[in-house]
Amino acid sequence: MAMTVAGPRVLLRDLREIMADAIGAQDRLNRIVDRIAENMGADVCSFYVLRDDGALELFATHGLKEAAVHMTSLRLGEGLVGLIAAEAETLNLNDAPHHPAFVYRPETGEDPFVSFLGVPVLRAGQTLGVLVVQNRDKRDYREDETEALLTVATLLAEMISTSEFDNLIQPGSDIDLRRPRTIEAVGFTDGIALGQIVLHDPRLVVTNFVAEDVEAELERLEQAVRTLRVSIDDMFSHRDLQMNSEHRDILESYRMFAYDRGWARRMREAVSAGLTAEAAVERVQNDTRARMLRQSDPYIRDRLHDLDDLANRLLRVLTGDPKVFGGRDLPEEAVLVARNLGPAELLEYDRSRLRGVVLEEGGTTAHVAIVARSLGLVAVGQADNIVSVSEAGDDIIVDAAAGMVHLRPPPDVEAIYVDKLALSAKRQAQYAALRDQPSVTRDGVEVTLLHNSGLIADLPTIEETGAAGVGLFRTELQFMIAERLPRLDEQTNLYAEAMALVGDRPIVFRLLDIGGDKVVPFMRSAVEENPAMGWRSLRLALDRPGLFRTQVRALLQAASGRRLDILVPMITEASEFRQARSVINKELERLERTGGTPPEKLSVGAMIEVPSLLYELDRVLPIADFISIGSNDLVQFLSAADRSNPRVARKYDPIGLPRLRALRHVATEAAAHQVPLTMCGELAGRPIEALALMAIGITRLSMAAASIGPIRELVRAVELHPIQKQIVEALDAREGTETMRDLLMACAAHQDLPL
Ligand code: PEP
Ligand code: MG
Repeated sequence: MAMTVAGPRVLLRDLREIMADAIGAQDRLNRIVDRIAENMGADVCSFYVLRDDGALELFATHGLKEAAVHMTSLRLGEGLVGLIAAEAETLNLNDAPHHPAFVYRPETGEDPFVSFLGVPVLRAGQTLGVLVVQNRDKRDYREDETEALLTVATLLAEMISTSEFDNLIQPGSDIDLRRPRTIEAVGFTDGIALGQIVLHDPRLVVTNFVAEDVEAELERLEQAVRTLRVSIDDMFSHRDLQMNSEHRDILESYRMFAYDRGWARRMREAVSAGLTAEAAVERVQNDTRARMLRQSDPYIRDRLHDLDDLANRLLRVLTGDPKVFGGRDLPEEAVLVARNLGPAELLEYDRSRLRGVVLEEGGTTAHVAIVARSLGLVAVGQADNIVSVSEAGDDIIVDAAAGMVHLRPPPDVEAIYVDKLALSAKRQAQYAALRDQPSVTRDGVEVTLLHNSGLIADLPTIEETGAAGVGLFRTELQFMIAERLPRLDEQTNLYAEAMALVGDRPIVFRLLDIGGDKVVPFMRSAVEENPAMGWRSLRLALDRPGLFRTQVRALLQAASGRRLDILVPMITEASEFRQARSVINKELERLERTGGTPPEKLSVGAMIEVPSLLYELDRVLPIADFISIGSNDLVQFLSAADRSNPRVARKYDPIGLPRLRALRHVATEAAAHQVPLTMCGELAGRPIEALALMAIGITRLSMAAASIGPIRELVRAVELHPIQKQIVEALDAREGTETMRDLLMACAAHQDLPL
């Protein structure tokens, strides 16, 4: 055994010397292939590099014709070398010419070689090239020889990624891992962010590859694996009770991998072959990433991702840097790049420096997306492979509106975005100047502009936008980012803080709207076929009133002598609203009985977001102090089109005739009963939609903070009555082909409105 590993170790030691020599890049490569051939007793050793055009170019050879270097190339998938690159897998053959993928290249003079051993050169799971040894005679390459070649390949991958190799690389070559890239993504928000990459889970750069003392490195590796295992076991014992099933699954698979003998063995073998413990982890991780990139099965991909994460943690243990999560120093303009992120993790970062978030995973309704929106960040998800092609500190542009990420953008692309951003900054300055101007139309209709909010962190922006108050505070967001159920006193403090932050302005607290897609980590939810129409929100609250009562109690305590506005979500029938009111009344009585100070004024409102309630408005309105339309849900249920399914979510225009008629019905009924009405769905923050709402008489609009400026500008520019007249006529017309949107666009164009 000692004999077989001595070769690779000597080889690595020699290679270290070659790396340290002050010679040019090509000479260095030439000496490396010479040395490998000599050490392994091979007739040929060749190194191919994968170019951008998919060709594998011969970069250095010992044994093939010197003239073929930089002249010969194979396509990806072509020949044995092409096959290795395409599959990112080792090929070990003792009868190469009879392999079906074999192709003959006369210019290299390789025809007499029978034995062939080739390995992919990988970095961050991407194929950079192929390293090959060949022998004229029939020969079986041993496993330790394959290992040795893989180890050298790791070294080569790092080496050719340095700037020293730039001048060897032909124009358009792919081996520049830091070349500009454009990656498609799904926008979670609107807007553009320019900044520098901060990796949430930074890849550690291994600089020391060759072991000085193999025994000592083995011991370091063993020790690190032990530490890793202990830390995972600890997580299980401490967090057992609070973990939801998803956390548990991830941790379970971490534990499984951490104890996986195969994983540990592969790393040990790499150390035995002469690598440092860190380099060994990296080598094995490279294989994992390569396998991951080839996987289309999302479950297996996820598991491989977990293994990749675990290897990163192991590297941290080895470098004495056990956790490098949030709270780090950020560049002035930071864009966070992560595979995935919990909402709480996002909140750990310094908000004043964070501009954007790019995730490899996530959906628009993911909690982190909601929190990102709430924080006013520019966010995208499903950016394929973004983590492995990103380097900390690199420039990045996130164009959420277009669903695009530009990594290391070339100057012309950057210039376009700098202009765009300047334009939007100019507009922001215009909006800021309008902050204290009344939001009244040219013909005197007053429109009240309110914020949608959900986190303490986003409340202070109300000072900047000059909004009249908070029309919707989604209380569940705080629950979604909490690790455990917030206690009564914690909730009381939170609501009191929210009230203090908005000062004299009103703030409408919506009762917990959880369940469905809004998962709180400490509540196990049963899997439902149609969660949006499932056991959620008020349904859950009335069935399990404990949580509901605690929240109402906390709100009443927090208000103590101030006004309190409570909004009840997801009411399907008037009777449910009555039940909710009665729970609230009981809590109020309890407070008075126990000597607490009741709110100065308590208003309880009903959310109109389930279509059946449209036919019971005459029963709800007399018992509601106010109502608020949740158009996000109302529109999805009216059109039977899932709001989070991109295929159908935009298929039916929310201000299309039937939906707008429904909204007008609510507005008319509310006016008849003299009950204040607010629109708090996303519609309120979009210009044409807001115009439609105003046209049907909805003049209290609650929206994301970023929309207040544009909508205020619109309100101040519009002459509403003529538009109202046209829209009402169109809504009542028995026939007509023009869409409501087209009509509104024409009105807006006619009045030259800022859209
Ligand atoms: C809505 O449904 O329109 C709404 C405002 O509530 P949410 O988006 O939180 O469901
Ligand atoms: Mg809703």
